[in-house]
Amino acid sequence: MKKTTGMNRAITRTWRPATRAVRGGVWRSEHGETSEALFLTSGYSYDDAATVAARFAGEAEGMTYSRLQNPTVAMLEERIALMEGAEACRAQASGMAAMTAALLCQLSHGDHVVAARAAFGSCRWLVDHLCPRFGIETTVIDSADDAAWEAAIRPNTKVFFFETPANPTLDVVDLELVCGLAKAHGITTVVDNAFATAVLQRPLEFGADVVAYSATKLMDGQGRVLAGAVCGTREFIDEVLLPFQRNTGPNLSPFNAWVVHKGLETLLLRAHRQSETALELGRFVEGRLPRVLHPGLESHPRHAIAAKQMDAFGPIFAFDVESREKAFALLDALELIDISNNIGDARSLMCHPASTTHAGMTEEARAEMGVGEGLLRFNVGLEDPEDLKEDLDRAFSAAGF
Ligand SMILES: *Cc1c(COP(=O)(O)O)cnc(C)c1O
Repeated sequence: MKKTTGMNRAITRTWRPATRAVRGGVWRSEHGETSEALFLTSGYSYDDAATVAARFAGEAEGMTYSRLQNPTVAMLEERIALMEGAEACRAQASGMAAMTAALLCQLSHGDHVVAARAAFGSCRWLVDHLCPRFGIETTVIDSADDAAWEAAIRPNTKVFFFETPANPTLDVVDLELVCGLAKAHGITTVVDNAFATAVLQRPLEFGADVVAYSATKLMDGQGRVLAGAVCGTREFIDEVLLPFQRNTGPNLSPFNAWVVHKGLETLLLRAHRQSETALELGRFVEGRLPRVLHPGLESHPRHAIAAKQMDAFGPIFAFDVESREKAFALLDALELIDISNNIGDARSLMCHPASTTHAGMTEEARAEMGVGEGLLRFNVGLEDPEDLKEDLDRAFSAAGF
């Protein structure tokens, strides 16, 4: 197989982001296909026994088994690393496989994790339930309270774990401040960048160590496959993550890798267009509802920090309609926008986090992180903004707002 320029670091390093997204991580077979090949294979065969022995011994390059390497998955990893500005990346079976691997690959009994309170429900489950079962201590803080990060540090603090913007409350963490603090204390930062992706925010530029993804969301962008990724230094990926991954097996299927690889080609366009429409719709509903949460709105308490670290503010916003009854009435009155708990899709989707993505938490824990009974999360898609406004208008009237 011919490695084209898309795998040549000396060349790709000079490419600008849009070029990296469509040309990075490309291996061409002898057929010269323009669209990358899908290598749907679990294993490999060898010309002779010495070749496979050399590969297993790490003395020769080459694939041995798809839990360890696969050409299609490798193309995706190379493209994501290029877009992120990371030395290396490993794809994972889902966003939660990525978060679990990013944490457990480096944590041991007796270590301590400081995590942001506002987070995706399953990310909180890792912190609240999984880590403690293995003797890993955790402290959950209000990530918008800059002083709380330093106050939570203990001698055994190993990892800071947070999302920015956070799901679904759109809390924003000051990347430069928190990553700088972590560096000063020898703590590794793991940033869940699913809401922004590399085209809107590159945490490594602000000092983050590890960037972890649900690629199910904006990266795929069309609601087709589950996927995840972990990016970091070559040393972290090869020496810390890889031993964990190759022996526990949270690997991405080549088919799903291929789908996400194609999704990345349009990510820049989609993320900016969806961000623009989200801001327009956020402004449209802002006067009519008591609380609209989007980092792009001047009313967001951390708007200035978001503006410093993001190229655009993302397709997702949240708003509060005060009660579960009103939230359900509004969802049921929508005609164009789907009721769906996915995000990042090209379709506009709305959901009620308290009864879906965050239903596994107690009402008190939800209230503490700002997920009230009346909160709705809105993923703004690629439809015409005027049609979305009409649907919101109609639903607001029908639900008696
Ligand atoms: C969806 C999501 C995840 C989990 O990703 P999956 O691909 O569904 O496993 C993790 N973090 C954030 C912020 C998410 O939005």
